[in-house]
Amino acid sequence: MGFTVEQDCPQCGAPVELDEADHLLSCPYCNVKSFLFAPNYFRFVLPHKAPQEEIIYAPYLRFKGNVFFCKERSVGHRIVDITNLGVTLKGLPGTLGLRPQAMKMKFVTPDTEGSFLRFSLKASKILERAGRLSTGSSSESILHRAYIGETLSLIYLPLYVKNNRLFDAVLNRAITGLPGGRETLEPSINKNPRWQLTFMATLCPQCGWNLDGERDSVVLTCSNCKTAWEASKGKFIPVKYQFVPGQGENTVYLPFWKISANAQGVEINSFADFIRLTNQPRVIGKDWETEDMNFWTPAFKIRPKVFLHLSRQFTVSQKHFDTKETIPKKNLYPVTLPRGEAIQSMKVILAGSAVNKKNVFPHLPQIKFNIKDSVLVYLPFTERGYEMLQQQMQISINKNTLEFGRQL
Ligand SMILES: [Zn+2]
Ligand SMILES: [Zn+2]
Repeated sequence: MGFTVEQDCPQCGAPVELDEADHLLSCPYCNVKSFLFAPNYFRFVLPHKAPQEEIIYAPYLRFKGNVFFCKERSVGHRIVDITNLGVTLKGLPGTLGLRPQAMKMKFVTPDTEGSFLRFSLKASKILERAGRLSTGSSSESILHRAYIGETLSLIYLPLYVKNNRLFDAVLNRAITGLPGGRETLEPSINKNPRWQLTFMATLCPQCGWNLDGERDSVVLTCSNCKTAWEASKGKFIPVKYQFVPGQGENTVYLPFWKISANAQGVEINSFADFIRLTNQPRVIGKDWETEDMNFWTPAFKIRPKVFLHLSRQFTVSQKHFDTKETIPKKNLYPVTLPRGEAIQSMKVILAGSAVNKKNVFPHLPQIKFNIKDSVLVYLPFTERGYEMLQQQMQISINKNTLEFGRQL
């Protein structure tokens, strides 16, 4: 589990506990569900113990997720879990360490009292450094990195200034001298942040029915008018989806993103191009020359190794499923990996699929994708012992791995 967040129900005011990666607040008291939305990042504060002082908050970048890195001849991956300082200020701890685990965070809202130091470092630079540390020492250079995050947020550490010293307001302990006093921090303070946290009513925009989803879902579904929705800029927008009907009562539907794209930097304008470029041991069908290239990825969190393995298997096989444009009534596994993260992983999937590495790896830094379409596809799986078995392709996923992914 990640860090815990405490948030009052927007409907009845009861305190509700969430995990940092949760999007759906489900109130156990009034049963109202709200979908949480913030532009860019969720922002949290750690509670302080200095009610008398004027609090200044320092930003830390929180990332938890998978880092994939393409070296000259191989694709590696790691799980990265960091809370790194996001401002240049001497004396502050470089990471929050275990602190957020010991306390309940709160969302930053326009009502949060105190001043906020600007997040002045680049998220991409912090991630790159964390990614570099986790790749270990090697003489091979890294041609590409992808960060497939479950959590990317800012956590604010409360501080205050007293007698020209900077204090940690969680521990009430001086952490460094500040000879110029509070004024030295003034230029770094974000004057008018007005960060909004939006609570979206989970009602279907098309028919008004209650949308279904779990606490970590990033796509909600309507069982009444058979639609799927994702949040964008504080609104629900429709998600295109298909479903492949399964056999048997125990069928569970796992969601996958299917992304159609062309590539520049290496030429991929069709599925045949992809097979040739990656040098798959398959005879190229004539109709593949005109067939769109589709990249497949799981639309749920899972260990990086399994994520890559599944993506590769579905992408290389490019199986034509018989699909229906409706949503199965039950046993839908939640979508916990947003479409944007799936797109981020496409280069890694291309590299991971390459049998002939020389054709692909040296071009990785230059490759660009032109996304033509994306569809959420629910594929039928059968539970069998410790496994979930994909019914058409006989690809299996270990059940424990799925459970682990939910907690990642
Ligand atoms: Zn409530
Ligand atoms: Zn509806």
